[in-house]
Amino acid sequence: MADPLPPAVGFVGLGRMGDPMTRRIAAAGVEVRGFDVSPDAVRALDGVVTRVDSAADAARGTGVVILMLPDSDVVERVVDDELLDALVAPVSGDGRDSATRHSRPLLVDMSSSEPLRTRALAERVASRGATLVDAPVSGGVSGARAGTLTIMVGGPSQAAERLEPLLALMGRVRHVGEVGAGHALKALNNLLSASHLLASSEAILAGRRFGLDPAVMLDAINGSSGRSGSTQNKWPNHILPGSYDSGFTASLLVKDIKIALALAEATGAPHEHAEHTVRVWSRAVEKLGPAADHTEIARWLEEQ
Ligand code: NAD
Repeated sequence: MADPLPPAVGFVGLGRMGDPMTRRIAAAGVEVRGFDVSPDAVRALDGVVTRVDSAADAARGTGVVILMLPDSDVVERVVDDELLDALVAPVSGDGRDSATRHSRPLLVDMSSSEPLRTRALAERVASRGATLVDAPVSGGVSGARAGTLTIMVGGPSQAAERLEPLLALMGRVRHVGEVGAGHALKALNNLLSASHLLASSEAILAGRRFGLDPAVMLDAINGSSGRSGSTQNKWPNHILPGSYDSGFTASLLVKDIKIALALAEATGAPHEHAEHTVRVWSRAVEKLGPAADHTEIARWLEEQ
């Protein structure tokens, strides 16, 4: 039986998430052709990925290229004609050109991008003979290391099925709808996550000023109806120890919740709470700076 994993993939964006994700793919025996504009990010993966000189070079000869970039602006810049030409060029040795190849080359955007821009990009990619699939993730850097991410796939079923063995190296795969659906769901998930962290931080800081011990509060809340990922993970592991080291920046989170707010506005769904969440988080990022970890919101709130 044929190996369901492709022999090689291109991977563009070797940052906080891309690094552990490429390590898991490479550990399964798949050659990773990796590219990042940051020489440090590439150097950290010496011996793990095959170094290439551009995003187009990463795509060349693989049939599958994964993007793990900051946002839609960067994704659209990276997916240029050169990359698409390289992606649809004949895979060396398969003797077929892109028009006769049974399966179309796949471009997989695992970044948290904007769903409407993803749909528009999918049309451009399709017109060049490839298929765009969105596959954003939740679970953070620790989930990427452990291979326990939740992966929300948007795109045609056939493409999603083809990608399943590859994506399963990184986590639990859920096909959630057509192209763009993954990016929409991911942004809405992060709106909830940002709301939970803001709400739980306000509650814990109020409790502390009243004289409660935050560790005692968390123990009780985590057995009660107020629990969330923020009380079960972010507060005990990244805020109480004062390490603020989740690996996810507040500025990327603000990008995500603005996408969710825009989606609610565009669909006419209620969004008063989302507006408030975006406003408070935006003020925090202005003060904390673009590199701050998102768990530093608790520190910022305390200083208010
Ligand atoms: P990051 O900033 O650590 O990594 C992004 C990488 O992209 C960087 O190494 C950067 O040098 C590279 N890059 C930027 N422009 C480039 C270009 N033109 N060509 C090639 N490389 C380029 O960000 P991250 O935390 O890894 O996040 C990546 C994506 O995943 C974002 O969309 C983010 O919202 C999402 N995400 C992050 C987390 C997390 O916990 N960090 C969790 C889930 C989803």
